[in-house]
Amino acid sequence: MNITLPDGSTRELSEGSSGYDLALSIGKGLAKAAVAISIDGKQQDIHDSITQDSSVSIITIDSSEGLEIMRHTLTAQVLARAVKNLYPDAKLAIGPTINDGFYYDFLFNKAISSDDIPKIENEMRNIIKSGDPINKSFRSQKEAVKLFKDRKEDYKIEIIQDSDQKEDFQIYQQGDSDFIDLCKGPHLPNLSLIGSFKLTKIAGAYWRGDSKNEMLTRIYGTAWNTEKELNTYLEAIEEAEKRDHRKLAKEMDLFHFQEEAPGMVFWHPNGWTIYRELKSYIRDRLMKSNYQEINTPQVVDRKLWEASGHWDKYRENMFIAEIDEEHANEKRVNALKPMNCPCHVQIYNQGIKSYRDLPLRYAEFGSCHRYEASGTMHGLMRVRGFTQDDGHIFCTESQIEKETALFIELLSGIYKDLGFDNFSIKLSTRPEIRVGSDEVWDKAEESLKNAINKLDLPYTIDEGDGAFYGPKLDFVLTDAIGREWQCGTFQADFNLPDRLDAEYIGEDGSKHRPVMIHRAILGSFERFIGVLIENYSGRLPLWMAPCQVVISSIVSDVDSYVDEVEELLSNKGIRVLTDKRNEKISYKVREHSTAKVPVIMVIGKKEAEERTISVRRLGSDKNTSYDLDKIIDEISLESQRP
Ligand code: ZN
Repeated sequence: MNITLPDGSTRELSEGSSGYDLALSIGKGLAKAAVAISIDGKQQDIHDSITQDSSVSIITIDSSEGLEIMRHTLTAQVLARAVKNLYPDAKLAIGPTINDGFYYDFLFNKAISSDDIPKIENEMRNIIKSGDPINKSFRSQKEAVKLFKDRKEDYKIEIIQDSDQKEDFQIYQQGDSDFIDLCKGPHLPNLSLIGSFKLTKIAGAYWRGDSKNEMLTRIYGTAWNTEKELNTYLEAIEEAEKRDHRKLAKEMDLFHFQEEAPGMVFWHPNGWTIYRELKSYIRDRLMKSNYQEINTPQVVDRKLWEASGHWDKYRENMFIAEIDEEHANEKRVNALKPMNCPCHVQIYNQGIKSYRDLPLRYAEFGSCHRYEASGTMHGLMRVRGFTQDDGHIFCTESQIEKETALFIELLSGIYKDLGFDNFSIKLSTRPEIRVGSDEVWDKAEESLKNAINKLDLPYTIDEGDGAFYGPKLDFVLTDAIGREWQCGTFQADFNLPDRLDAEYIGEDGSKHRPVMIHRAILGSFERFIGVLIENYSGRLPLWMAPCQVVISSIVSDVDSYVDEVEELLSNKGIRVLTDKRNEKISYKVREHSTAKVPVIMVIGKKEAEERTISVRRLGSDKNTSYDLDKIIDEISLESQRP
């Protein structure tokens, strides 16, 4: 039997050898770390036999696939067995892995709560300590049903009966324990390979996600290879929860969502101030970079979407609006635009363009709507209605390189201004199925690479991950707690100009297709503001803060001085509020700190007499005294947009 390994080398193995035998033939260390194998791309247990010539890779515990298998074993074997040990009447449903962890759904006959978590974790540790081997056996559909009938595992029976799989069912068991579970595998060969874990929460979930079914109890957990990785992860989660933009939005009174418009933001005055400031800043940058701002319709006839190809490929994500135009005796079907590109081509197509007009850079704060499944929405991070800092560059093939360089320079300056010094670039190259000749792709990919290289920036290449219409760059920024957010994008498009018949007259006097470049820096304002809030933990730079200064009085006889200071700040364009309420100053300071007001000015008798101001900066517990003129100048300077 001939085995091909991932490095291309081959190995002769005797018929019926297992993945473990293969690992052992390569080295003892590998055999020890091996947890499963992948035979022709399909993951299987390490002790499964390899039955024919195939490509095999060995999955070790320290790989991401190994970690996934460990999490799977932890939930489907250890957590499920622990629950059955503690609650023999509980029924097993399903237990998959998820991002960073796993869950298992059970039906308990008596409700459990998070108070029960330590007990379950303890039982899991006892089970792991046994180091039991994990074995599997095969049963026919009939045998498998009988096996689980004896154990009253109704959900397992339902899964088996509903299955149309031809092969026998796999039943896993640990050592000589009584616990069994139905599973497609693979699992770790034994329990001693399990790392560090924690059960994180308990929630309700319907059987098969259907609200007509009974509610089950879902136990979530996370698992890592080492205690250190587990702790790093738990700390990151805690930090992320503190910064959750949905929580901060309540404290800062920024926006809300409601039933009548799922995934669409109701911006409150404070939130809208952030939005407007960010928009003004971006507009300013675009104008300085020779973009022309345009605006295109939100509701557009299906004819244009048919021409652009969206009606065919993207309709299920579009909001369709049917308008009965009685007078015209014509029924129109429109869609809310899910993207701005086709409309930008309409503007380009007005009048004849010559090579001298190129590059043409159009920018639009384009309001778009896309239907996202309700389960996937998440505060500002994933919405149905959003505004892109969209733009399209129409240029010739030979201009792509220069436009790429200009765009990256613009983007990196903006990210820096907004507090993100680190970003990475990913280049996605031609996929199997594509439009355009190889010659055009060669040129475009080369142009993108050259531009990045000349700027001396690192980048990674994702071979074959480009869109069918052209290569692209993705820009991923890193926030204050190390999380990555893909925001910027730069995509060459050889397709849409062709579909929508965009052209220019070249130097040779004949007609040519321009290249269209789709580009965005923030992505969408909504999501980017979510990222900003979390990056800064709500403590936005002064220029973006909704309320920049609060003037709080200590006693009421300084009210006229408070008003005077307010007017001075207002005249400088500072967003200022006064707080003359008859409350303790410590109470006022706490309240404005929670609302993340960057500057709290405190005025008592002493300040009014000396014409000074006591200033408390957000995040500091010290007050500093300033002369009135000096602090007004300082705040006014600091609040300037970059
Ligand atoms: Zn576009």
